[in-house]
Amino acid sequence: MQWSGRRESDNVEDQRGSGGGGGGGRIALGGGATVLVFLACWALGIDPRLLLNSGLVDHAQTQTRPADPAEEPLKHFVSVVLADTEDVWHAQFVKMGETYREPKLVLFRGSVSSACGMADSATGPFYCPGDQKVYIDLQFFQELRDRFHAPGDFAQAYVVAHEVGHHVQKLLGLSDKVHAQRTRLSEKESNQLSVRLELQADFLAGVWAYHAQQMKKILEPGDLDEALRAANAIGDDRLQKQARGVVVPDSFTHGTSVQRIRWFKKGFETGDVRLKDQLFSLPYSQL
Ligand SMILES: [Zn+2]
Repeated sequence: MQWSGRRESDNVEDQRGSGGGGGGGRIALGGGATVLVFLACWALGIDPRLLLNSGLVDHAQTQTRPADPAEEPLKHFVSVVLADTEDVWHAQFVKMGETYREPKLVLFRGSVSSACGMADSATGPFYCPGDQKVYIDLQFFQELRDRFHAPGDFAQAYVVAHEVGHHVQKLLGLSDKVHAQRTRLSEKESNQLSVRLELQADFLAGVWAYHAQQMKKILEPGDLDEALRAANAIGDDRLQKQARGVVVPDSFTHGTSVQRIRWFKKGFETGDVRLKDQLFSLPYSQL
């Protein structure tokens, strides 16, 4: 992807160093012990932040990864991609008669406190509708390359664009509608709605890529394949097979690899944001 020397977004909040987060300071967690404490907290209905802030879970298990200078180019890259999403979505929202409000993108290291609660790197990049921010630990991109075998800058751009896709859904009221419905449904039906929403974010990422290419000619040979490889690698079926050796379709919440590729491609080939509604009008078996 062509990105060097292009505009970087002002909406990146770098919380990788000290500070940031909410309450009593931000902590980078080391090791599985803290994760277990977290799970125990959730099981017991305790807000883990209380424990963290109380100092009960503290320095013994806390290690802050030192700033990695190798991440700096990645930070610039992510800022350029975010700027590209701003340009594309401003234009698309104007077309829809709406106003686009730019999301913040928080870079964190280890763990982070969001309006959606505490999260650590194992969660992967995520969007929190509560504070309308995208959260990314840049280490994830290494994982994408090494563990998921999806290298390349456009694979990374796809990840950012997918999370921004969730922001677009939030602004258009699409995700709120789904969350309201989900509370009344069985787990299976609720998971299916979640898949629709995730595939729609993939579709919106594809729409972004189409328009970014139209506006700025950002693509280089092989870029599209990089994004598709990433979509393929993080399909629920692939991830489940890797994790437990079996695939349980009813538990999917993001869609299969084939579905993720299909919807990203559809967005990229049409650039037509109106087609997003198909994700909720088509029968589930035709997604
Ligand atoms: Zn998602």
